[in-house]
Amino acid sequence: MKWLGTVSKFNLKDMNTTKTINLKSRPKGTPALTDFDFTISENSELQEGEVLLGTKYVSVDPYLRGRMSDAPSYIEPFQLNKPIVSGIIAEVLVSKSTKFSKGDNVIGSLQWKETQVAKVDGLKKVAADKAPLSAYLGILGMTGLTAFQGLREIGKPKKGETLLVSGAAGAVGSVVGQIGKILGLRVVGIAGTDEKVEMLTSEFGFDEGINYNTTENMVEAIKKACPNGVDIYFDNVGGEISDAVLFNINKFSRTINCGAISVYNNTEQPIGISVQPFLVKNSSSMQGFIVSDFADKHAEGIKQLAEWLQQGKLHATETIKEGFDNIPQAFLDLFEGKNKGKMVVKI
Ligand code: NDP
Repeated sequence: MKWLGTVSKFNLKDMNTTKTINLKSRPKGTPALTDFDFTISENSELQEGEVLLGTKYVSVDPYLRGRMSDAPSYIEPFQLNKPIVSGIIAEVLVSKSTKFSKGDNVIGSLQWKETQVAKVDGLKKVAADKAPLSAYLGILGMTGLTAFQGLREIGKPKKGETLLVSGAAGAVGSVVGQIGKILGLRVVGIAGTDEKVEMLTSEFGFDEGINYNTTENMVEAIKKACPNGVDIYFDNVGGEISDAVLFNINKFSRTINCGAISVYNNTEQPIGISVQPFLVKNSSSMQGFIVSDFADKHAEGIKQLAEWLQQGKLHATETIKEGFDNIPQAFLDLFEGKNKGKMVVKI
C-alpha cells in the first residue's frame, strides 16, 4: 500500500473550545444514539508538559460497551456526562513539551473531542510515513496485538492443526485467521454475511467460512468445515455460536476467550450449555484474556505484525467512516456487523 502522508487541517483560531461527545445515559440492552450527547467544552490553558491535539482518527471498539455500564470490570466505567475515551490518533498542534513537536502524530487513550489538551505521558509518536495512521489503531495496534498474543500465548498453535475463528471478518478475527495461515494451520471462519464469508477465503486466505445467519445447524456446519475437529477455537462472540463449537472440539483443544459480543447487550445473565463435560472428556482448556496481560510482549508482537505486513503476508482491512458527528453511529454499527476489518472514524 502506498502512503502519501498527511496534511494538517486544523485552524488554531478555533482551538479554545471543542465539540465533545459524552456518555448521556447507560444503555439498557443495545446502545442507542440517545445514549450520547454532543456538547461544546472549553480547552484548558496549555501547561508545561502538555500538548494541544487535533483528533484525526478515532477507534470504535466493542469493549467500549462494557465501559458504558457501571458493572465492575477490568477497566473502570465511563462517567455519565463525561467524554467517552478510546484509542485516538491525533496531531500535535501546539507543544509545551520537549517530547513532541508541532506536526507530530501521536496515539493515546484520548477523549472524543475534536481538539484537546493532554499530558504527554501515555502518548506515543506514530510514523505517518511508515503506514497509514489508522493502521496504528488496528493491525499495528490494539486489535492486531489481541489477535497475535491470544493465538500465540493461549492457542499455542502447531502446524497442521485446525483453527476456528468466530467474528472472523472483524478487526481481531481477520488478523487471527491470517496469522493462522502463516503458521500453517487449517483455518475456518464464522461471520454474519455471505459477502464476509467470501472475503474470508478470497482476501484473508481462510480455507473455509460459515455464515452463522443463514446456517440452521451450526454443530453440523462446523463438523463439515472442520472434518478433523477443532484444535483451537478463537472466540470473539460467545453465546450460541460458541456452544455449537463445543460439540466439535478435539482432545487437548484450546479455546481462547477473547470476546463475547453476542451477549454484550443482554440485560439478563445469558444461559448456555454446561461447558464442563465437554472440557473434561476432551482434556480441553478455555482461557480468557485481556490484551494488556501480555504487555511485556507487545513490542515483539508489533515488530512481527509490521514485518508480515511489509512482506505482504498480512492484509489490513478497514471500514472507515467519516466525520466527528458519526463516531457514535460507527460504534453502534459494530453490533450490526456493518464493519469489515477494523472500524475507524476519520475526522
Ligand atoms: P469486530 O471488528 O469483530 O466488530 C464486531 C463484529 O462482531 C461485527 O462486525 C459482527 O460481525 C460481529 N457481531 C456483532 N454482533 C454479533 C452477534 N450478536 N453474534 C455474532 N457476531 C456478532 O470487533 P473487534 O475485532 O474489535 O472485537 C472482536 C471481539 O474481540 C469483541 O468481542 C471484543 O470485545 C473482543 N476484544 C477483546 C480484546 C481482549 O483484550 N480480550 C481486545 C479487543 C477486542 P458479523 O457480521 O460477522 O456478525
